[in-house]
Amino acid sequence: MDYRLSEELKMLKDMAYKFAKNEMAPLSSECDENETYTPEIRKKAAELGLIASWLPEEYGGAGFGVFGNAIITEEISRVDMGIGLNIVVASFGCEAIYHFGTEEQKKKYLPPVCRGEMVSAGAFTEPNAGTDVSGIGTRAVKDGSDYVINGSKMFITNGTICDFMVVLAITNPDAPKRHDRFSMILVPSDLPGITKTKIKGKLGIRASDTAEIAFEDVRVPQENLIGQEGRGFHQVMHFFDMTRVMVAAQGIGISQGCLDTAIRYAKERKAFGTSIGNFQLNQAKLAEMAIRIESLRNMVYKAAWLFDQDTPDYTLSAMAKFLGGQTAVFCANAALEIHGGYGYIAEYEVQKWYRDAKILELYEGTKEAEILTIAKVLMK
Ligand SMILES: Cc1cc2nc3c(=O)[nH]c(=O)nc-3n(C[C@H](O)[C@H](O)[C@H](O)COP(=O)(O)OP(=O)(O)OC[C@H]3O[C@@H](n4cnc5c(N)ncnc54)[C@H](O)[C@@H]3O)c2cc1C
Repeated sequence: MDYRLSEELKMLKDMAYKFAKNEMAPLSSECDENETYTPEIRKKAAELGLIASWLPEEYGGAGFGVFGNAIITEEISRVDMGIGLNIVVASFGCEAIYHFGTEEQKKKYLPPVCRGEMVSAGAFTEPNAGTDVSGIGTRAVKDGSDYVINGSKMFITNGTICDFMVVLAITNPDAPKRHDRFSMILVPSDLPGITKTKIKGKLGIRASDTAEIAFEDVRVPQENLIGQEGRGFHQVMHFFDMTRVMVAAQGIGISQGCLDTAIRYAKERKAFGTSIGNFQLNQAKLAEMAIRIESLRNMVYKAAWLFDQDTPDYTLSAMAKFLGGQTAVFCANAALEIHGGYGYIAEYEVQKWYRDAKILELYEGTKEAEILTIAKVLMK
């Protein structure tokens, strides 16, 4: 096994980092404070092929595969996870269209997302059902040639700014097996009956749009079904198998950003007549951050690489997602501590990273949910 990045991937990594530094960093604290969404940055990223870069060229992507996309996600999250999400999840939901959609759906929806002209969302969580995906209540009932959708979704990333959503709804309430009751449906977000309400006041990733969405008698043609009717739950689980690797890659990025900043600060800050970086207790923190980041990076790269070989290891993806959240939270905490009191104030970026990191243990499966997934395989 060759652990070196190819020249092409090295260039991609460098380009993504420079883009993030030049375009995102200057707006970081302003967007965090004002909860500003950044469509201009998303469009610039699209011009460089950074959006949904894992998609093959025939659907508008750059064809970098899951590995290449993980590297882009890492470098962008190394600078700002909140603004970064406007790029790395501008295509959230498209994974399902690519894997299960019809050729017509793929041709219609995927290229405009890659070009930065459209944004997608994946609407699965509901006010009363998050971890328990099969507890959702949104219904899609057949009426003539349409589905009529009623229900509500909670915490939907890109919710108020998306052009279309991949919605999980109950279509077969009487199916004998609970998990066979659901379907995924592609829903344009400007249809009558859809109400989108932005959720304000998030702890972190404040530049990322999050919304509650209500569906009241929303009509979509039955041809908007993604994949097979009754397979929605299974398709969502498959969807998360891939997106988990990307969340884990966000974890590498933010953790590396914390380490870079903490090293810089430790060299500059003086106490007791020397740099605080000379104190072994601080060095131990920096070393442990580096060890954890390198372990995470190896795990994520392996999980991503296996996807590109068509031999995905879903348990490894769940492990990577778990480790990604844990590493990010650890590194943000350690970086803040190394900054002492200055880590606690808005002037220093590390306080924002401390707030941003926590989401990695919550969305796309809580850390507890990842443990359950891994344990289930172990106990088979
Ligand atoms: C900023 C943000 C963005 C998000 N983006 C999206 C999005 O784009 N699309 C989307 O569909 N969702 C999205 N989510 C939702 C997110 O995936 C859910 O919040 C998450 O899955 C947890 O669900 P919940 O909040 O309902 O918590 P619950 O499921 O109610 O869990 C509460 C607690 O109980 C624990 N728990 C639950 N079940 C078990 C169990 N069986 N055993 C042990 N512990 C358990 C959980 O781990 C957690 O600690 C987003 C959330 C946030 C905060």
